[in-house]
Amino acid sequence: MMLNNSVKEIFSAIKEEILKANRIVLSSHINPDGDNLGSVLGMYSVLKQMGKEVYPIIDDEIPKDYKFLPSSEVIKRPEEINFTPDLFITLDSATLDRIGKSKEIFEKAKKTINFDHHKTNDSYADLNYVSEKSATGEVLFEFFHTEKIGINKAAATCLYTAISSDTGSFKYDSTSSYTFYAASELMKKGIDINEIAVNLYQNRSKSKTKLLIEVASKIKYYFDDKVGLGKVTNDIMESVGAEKHDSEGIVEFIRDIEGLELAVLLKEKKDGGVRLSMRSKSQLDCAKIASFFGGGGHTRAAGATIDLPIDKAEEVLIEEIKKQL
Ligand code: AMP
Ligand code: MN
Ligand code: MN
Repeated sequence: MMLNNSVKEIFSAIKEEILKANRIVLSSHINPDGDNLGSVLGMYSVLKQMGKEVYPIIDDEIPKDYKFLPSSEVIKRPEEINFTPDLFITLDSATLDRIGKSKEIFEKAKKTINFDHHKTNDSYADLNYVSEKSATGEVLFEFFHTEKIGINKAAATCLYTAISSDTGSFKYDSTSSYTFYAASELMKKGIDINEIAVNLYQNRSKSKTKLLIEVASKIKYYFDDKVGLGKVTNDIMESVGAEKHDSEGIVEFIRDIEGLELAVLLKEKKDGGVRLSMRSKSQLDCAKIASFFGGGGHTRAAGATIDLPIDKAEEVLIEEIKKQL
């Protein structure tokens, strides 16, 4: 792939900062997913191999689905960091607020770098590389590969997981020929793609399954069945004994319904308000709808937080979708 000059310049500037730094903190967004955890841990393994002191931090619980990722046990909470990092690298985070309390450490760091693939990223770091690739894992692959920085097997497992997660296992239209090139090069590092697939796609817990069935049995349809909406209330969560991250995957299940263009999931938050997740099939721009609520993301997948009770949030959201249909 041909890289233009500005990409070459930003890559060498980033590499120079990494080489100069000793203590490096890595962070990513709350509500962790395969791409952000894979990217953080992929970067961790690469930097460790370069001899750096590396501290990955996430201001959230790590869903147990991702505990199979190499070095997942080293991820700390931001409260555990009590020094000024030479370098702070954010991954897969469109805005600084998305990293939660890690932001306080970011603000103290001597230098900051932002690697991302969200088109809504607002370039909040000293050095920013934002490229509309399928996953932040693919963006990191491009950086390491171009700069001839070694990717070991542990890092390859993490980056492959990142890409597989954010492309729905290489299905979404964000998947390009470069995505397959990256996957192919990562496979050459000896990773076990069956083990990754089993962990990612064939490992749903019983409580998660119950939650899916419960929410799916109450899907509401709008606009000639073009929009399907599911609601995860605190009551449902409690009744099936679900854990915090058990609602992951439900919005994709709704999206896969025949003829549906937009899938919406509203999830009640413990501290009030709701978390909005959207997925579209071929026409609607989810990021545009999410932006209306101060969130963001991609054309086919986006999210936001709405500070309203769940039924009111549904009403306001449906009005907004109506404008964009
Ligand atoms: P989710 O529905 O939480 O899986 O999020 C879908 C996509 O939108 C992911 O790529 C998220 O990183 C992104 N996203 C979710 N919430 C936000 C937000 N508040 N701001 C920016 N991007 C978001
Ligand atoms: Mn993400
Ligand atoms: Mn991502």
